[in-house]
Amino acid sequence: MKSIWQNGVTPKEFPKLEGDASTDVLIIGGGITGLLTAYALHNAGVNCILVEKNRVCGGTTGHTTAKLTYQHGLIYGKLLRQYGTERAKAYLDANRLAFERFSELCRHIDCDYEIKDNFVYSTDDPDALEEEMRALDRIGYSAILKDRLPLPIKTAGAVCFREQAQFHPLKLLSHVWSELNIFEQTPVLNVKGRKALTDTGVITAKHIVVATHFPFINRHGAYFLKLYQHRSYVIALKNAEILDGMYVDESKTGLSFRNYKDLLLLGGGGHRTGNKGGGYAELRMLAAKNYPRSAEVCGWAAQDCMSLDSIPYIGRYSSNDSALLVATGFNKWGMTGSMLASELLSDMILEKKNQFFPLFDPSRSILKPQLLINGAETAKNLLTPFGKRCTHLGCRLKWNNAEHTWDCACHGSRFSCSGDVLDGPAQKRLDV
Ligand SMILES: Cc1cc2nc3c(=O)[nH]c(=O)nc-3n(C[C@H](O)[C@H](O)[C@H](O)COP(=O)(O)OP(=O)(O)OC[C@H]3O[C@@H](n4cnc5c(N)ncnc54)[C@H](O)[C@@H]3O)c2cc1C
Repeated sequence: MKSIWQNGVTPKEFPKLEGDASTDVLIIGGGITGLLTAYALHNAGVNCILVEKNRVCGGTTGHTTAKLTYQHGLIYGKLLRQYGTERAKAYLDANRLAFERFSELCRHIDCDYEIKDNFVYSTDDPDALEEEMRALDRIGYSAILKDRLPLPIKTAGAVCFREQAQFHPLKLLSHVWSELNIFEQTPVLNVKGRKALTDTGVITAKHIVVATHFPFINRHGAYFLKLYQHRSYVIALKNAEILDGMYVDESKTGLSFRNYKDLLLLGGGGHRTGNKGGGYAELRMLAAKNYPRSAEVCGWAAQDCMSLDSIPYIGRYSSNDSALLVATGFNKWGMTGSMLASELLSDMILEKKNQFFPLFDPSRSILKPQLLINGAETAKNLLTPFGKRCTHLGCRLKWNNAEHTWDCACHGSRFSCSGDVLDGPAQKRLDV
């Protein structure tokens, strides 16, 4: 289903690769991560090719809600507990810098960029909000605690970051992609050393960046252990409320609110891909109850990759290969995350130092509680003897009745009822 962004902007069409090519940097994946990384390198004078298996911004980026903020849920309390003050502060500094770079780019492009306050609320846990405020105080950021919000649901208050932003992602990216050397309808089937194999040619590059959302190369990096996918739903309502701000529940399965012009974008219904959740039904029920005069003009669903410790993986794909790079695991915060990735990856390629390399290093420890949850989900679906099997690693697929798709709860691959791959990491069609 197309989002309001995709209904508003038709991407330029780019040719398919025909024959072999060579370049300094090959970027695989034409979402915001691939595009911003290619743009940063192009602006630094580096020769790049970007290849996209379908059309640019047809993946998660085309279905985002484009709230630009360095307030990623109640992350700072969590990071402080997990990693201490220094790393929590580094996460804030890195994302704040990415926010500023992003805002700077948006200011020169007609992309409906608007400064808005961001609110992370809790429905029932004021202590979690207090803890976040204390963590922010420790790392030197001054947020505001609010006890009342203009939302139709009961909350226990919110932590507010002043002067964050929202924008139209495809209006922004249409400026970016117009300057780049892109091949569409060109899936990379495999990467061998410095060569990427497609069905119409081989691309040789000094560096290869995997910006495919879920990394598709299984033999390095163990991304099948380090990531899972979380799906959520959005409906755009007219005649609902105009809220002066962006609002996000601290819980992964909660609701989010932002306006685009006179529309209210209501997000939520989230669940691990392949498992059950509220979906569109939850959002429609809420709209009917709280905005009875509203009408739905558009609805869409998408998913994002979730890392083990809420920090993205940006850097070397695996520690033993300095030329294969990756950016993934944005935990539904890929606007600042993708800008950060473009900075870190271009600094790596240009052999510049960057103080934030270690924090986002994909080879950091994986010993986190989420690893056990991912392992248990994989074991359960691998060992179930009957049913359709995912073409990625063979897990049992589940039928998703709301979207009429076959979904994998292990790693989030999805297939249409005729077997086409809708979401990776699966590369091969499902035999139906
Ligand atoms: C519903 C929803 C709302 C969100 N809202 C926000 C928000 O408000 N703020 C925020 O910061 N973040 C938000 N996010 C997260 C953010 O949208 C994502 O993190 C970001 O868009 C991911 O971009 P990407 O470029 O990494 O992936 P994608 O946009 O999925 O791009 C990856 C591309 O790689 C291509 N590809 C895959 N395999 C291959 C291959 N083998 N060869 C060639 N190409 C390939 C795919 O076709 C795809 O186009 C939201 C996410 C969801 C699901």
